[in-house]
Amino acid sequence: PTLRNPEEWCRSFSHFIAQCLIKDFETRPSVTHLLEHPFIKQAHGKEMALGQQLSTLICEQQDLGCKLKTKHERINTRKTLIIETSPDDDLVNLEFLDEETIIKHLSKRYDELQIYTYVGDILIALNPFQTLSIYSPQFSKLYHGVKRADNPPHIFATADAAYQGMVTFCKDQCIIISGESGAGKTESAHLIVQHLTFLGKANNRTLREKILQVNPLVEAFGNACTAINDNSSRFGKYLEMKFTPTGAVMGAKISEYLLEKSRVIKQATGEKNFHIFYYIYAGLYHQEKLKKYRLPDKKPPRYIENQHGKVMQDIVSSKLYKEQFDAIQDCFRIIGFTDEEVNSVYRILCAILNTGNIEFTAITSQHQTDKSEVPNVEALENAAALLCIGPEELTEALTSHCVVTRGETIIRTNTVDKATDVRDAMSKALYGRLFSWIVNRINALLHVAESGMNVGILDIFGFENFKKNSFEQLCINIANEQIQFYFNQHIFALEQMEYQSEGVDASLVEYEDNRPILDMFLQKPMGLLSLLDEESRFPQATDQTLVDKFEDNLRYKYFWRPKRFELCFGIQHYAGKVLYNVNGFLEKNRDTLPADIVVVLRTSENKLLQQLFSSPLTKTGRCQRLVIKVLIIPVTFFAPPPSPCFVSSLRWQYSLMDLLSKMVVGQPHFVRCIKPNDDRQALRFFKERVMVQLRYTGILETVNIRRQGYSHRILFEEFVNRYYYLAFRAHQMPDSSKENAVAILERAKLENWVLGKTKVFLKYYHVEQLNLLLREL
Ligand code: ATP
Ligand code: MG
Repeated sequence: PTLRNPEEWCRSFSHFIAQCLIKDFETRPSVTHLLEHPFIKQAHGKEMALGQQLSTLICEQQDLGCKLKTKHERINTRKTLIIETSPDDDLVNLEFLDEETIIKHLSKRYDELQIYTYVGDILIALNPFQTLSIYSPQFSKLYHGVKRADNPPHIFATADAAYQGMVTFCKDQCIIISGESGAGKTESAHLIVQHLTFLGKANNRTLREKILQVNPLVEAFGNACTAINDNSSRFGKYLEMKFTPTGAVMGAKISEYLLEKSRVIKQATGEKNFHIFYYIYAGLYHQEKLKKYRLPDKKPPRYIENQHGKVMQDIVSSKLYKEQFDAIQDCFRIIGFTDEEVNSVYRILCAILNTGNIEFTAITSQHQTDKSEVPNVEALENAAALLCIGPEELTEALTSHCVVTRGETIIRTNTVDKATDVRDAMSKALYGRLFSWIVNRINALLHVAESGMNVGILDIFGFENFKKNSFEQLCINIANEQIQFYFNQHIFALEQMEYQSEGVDASLVEYEDNRPILDMFLQKPMGLLSLLDEESRFPQATDQTLVDKFEDNLRYKYFWRPKRFELCFGIQHYAGKVLYNVNGFLEKNRDTLPADIVVVLRTSENKLLQQLFSSPLTKTGRCQRLVIKVLIIPVTFFAPPPSPCFVSSLRWQYSLMDLLSKMVVGQPHFVRCIKPNDDRQALRFFKERVMVQLRYTGILETVNIRRQGYSHRILFEEFVNRYYYLAFRAHQMPDSSKENAVAILERAKLENWVLGKTKVFLKYYHVEQLNLLLREL
């Protein structure tokens, strides 16, 4: 039945209501709302009469009627998924919006493979942990330019809303995808790009293909297998899809944030290095090119050797790695990298793998105890050859360093530990700069004029809480804290704007955000990051003095120091408590690359390498324009840090500024990814696990804000139509005026309601009271 034939619809609908009355109408609270209507109450049991009256009711409730309408197009998929709209597609439609209700609906929907649900303008995406057939071009068509309520919630609908918003209002848009590690952010980002390329039909097919290769290429270099996710993003990514004013895609630009470089040299137990290293090793093995790239063929290089005894065979026999290597080669080619460039990239990657195999031993003589040498020069010579530098120069740069005192240059030798640190610092720097170069090169190849509009997609590393958390987790979690802050501010600001436009006191919205936690991290000079920078400047500082400094200065309830673990501190993040181990914090924050290494790398004959080290790749030049006036986020968050500042924290802060400044200029759309279980199993919905995520991602908080504030804002007309029975006789049919609305409110003896210019502002319990009164009539 469709709305085109209201009588048939009503008859069928009256059956439906009768069934709901008999069975379980709790599961359909929007229908419950209909059931409270006096028409239905009176007509209950008299189906024919009910049919007639419903047609009147439908006219008044067009909106709700549309939502209840069943869609004809049933698209049978492999999973026999039926494309139907349902009243709980948008949880905001539900009258009783508490934790239990939300969980109940999400769980029911997940069982039916409806992984997407709206909460107002936010899309909740539950990770299905299985391949669904709902992302085909057929679906792209289905979600193209239609009203949101016409189809069930979908990630394509969010992409479509952003696209339509951009074309209609000529305004840049951004889609912010958040959620913990493994929740499905990166997959969501891919689907959005897929749908946007469909929408922005480029005449130029090559361009579309190029754009679709960007994510796989960048993720091969920036993603890795962690304890939580086999394809975990180890960097933040902001992809801007550029469109012409008529909405045709014309290019893309990618920005990267805070790559976890330390992964190159060491991975936690059970984790792996960046994907590309395995791809290249397996790929070159199969192409019989290990020799050409000077890689060992008996044992995998140390940086990718699994710590748990996994052997050569595991890497080279992996079909996946080999296939991925072929795919990456295609990506490079399609995007437009030259053969020479690709060859240079491979050489640098292989040089890094060889660098990891360089070992040092101590030279102990009577006078010298702090000197080291390279006992087996093979790896060193390989690295030097691949980098096109002299092996002697490289040995010297690794085992000694220059000190300038009073204008005199003195050469000091490095201990084994120091030489090892220098070696690893060189590997990290090579990889970090190579990654940035690839990103810049992609941007140059997909270059478009700055004019036009864009839809940006933000996909950062998710919140992490491992058994052992280090500096990397702290950076990742602070970035997530920022995103959460932005989310809260945006939801709050929208709420406030409606209050203000209706002339209602906006301070009535009680709202708690995570700003104090951010202050604890970012405030100067006493915030955690400033303290870390300060301590990093003292050569004598140790991890112990650092954690003591934190304890002495951070007087926040979000910080604590556990007695049992000396080198640990805890933070109460918005998403939960995390215990951090400060081991290596200072070193990682300093992230220093000795000048001697830079000097030797600059002598390289390899053009790409010369480019990587010709100028420091800092973002200093860009920071000036990042100090922007923002209505929502306080400007202090964008103030440049005082100098001198250490590389990682400087880069980190600029990165974040860049990220936020981009987001606040666009119209935001939020996607909240949720992980229904930790076992990565399909169709397993652990209520407690979901509840925790809903709480910290702010979904329930949004509900709470609505509950604390005036969750129901009803137009005078709608209010009078709905409740006039409480103050007037049925035949009176009063005007839908402000005065009549007040008469109903007073008659119902409600308190604390507020009148706006066009709407009645009610608290959540008011509606419950009104409905109770109606029921008692
Ligand atoms: P991280 O923060 O670690 O990068 P993430 O949130 O980006 O995590 P993803 O890598 O997107 O997580 O997702 C983890 C895994 O979940 C994917 O590799 C895939 O197997 C599965 N997955 C996520 N979303 C979907 C989806 N829509 N359909 C099918 N599988 C999915
Ligand atoms: Mg990811």
